[in-house]
Amino acid sequence: MTTADMDTTRYDYIIIGSGIAGLNTALLAAEHGSVLVVTKGRIDDCNSRYAQGGIAAAIGPGDSATLHERDTLDAGGDATGAREAT
Ligand SMILES: Cc1cc2nc3c(=O)[nH]c(=O)nc-3n(C[C@H](O)[C@H](O)[C@H](O)COP(=O)(O)OP(=O)(O)OC[C@H]3O[C@@H](n4cnc5c(N)ncnc54)[C@H](O)[C@@H]3O)c2cc1C
Repeated sequence: MTTADMDTTRYDYIIIGSGIAGLNTALLAAEHGSVLVVTKGRIDDCNSRYAQGGIAAAIGPGDSATLHERDTLDAGGDATGAREAT
């Protein structure tokens, strides 16, 4: 099969991942053109599905990535011991 034989659809934006980052970006991109979201596995198979306490981010005045990291490790009890990954 050549490219000319393929049934193709064109999109203005292709988003990889269907977590909150991808879906938020997809919503914003949809204001400017057509969007395709591509993900591996099921569309709801992502970490965002499991976030139970609201989405936390270091965006407030006086906040910092260091404080966010500390809060994350405190909340998780450093259960995985994955301090470096955090
Ligand atoms: C149990 C649990 C509880 C949590 N609770 C909270 C909370 O209370 N508050 C908070 O702020 N955060 C919480 N988090 C963390 C939060 O869920 C994540 O930080 C956030 O969801 C990350 O969003 P994301 O869109 O970057 O990634 P994800 O939601 O993980 O999405 C990534 C997407 O990319 C796709 N993908 C990955 N690799 C590929 C590939 N090779 N090709 C195509 N697609 C791919 C995945 O399938 C998925 O759709 C929690 C996480 C867990 C696991």
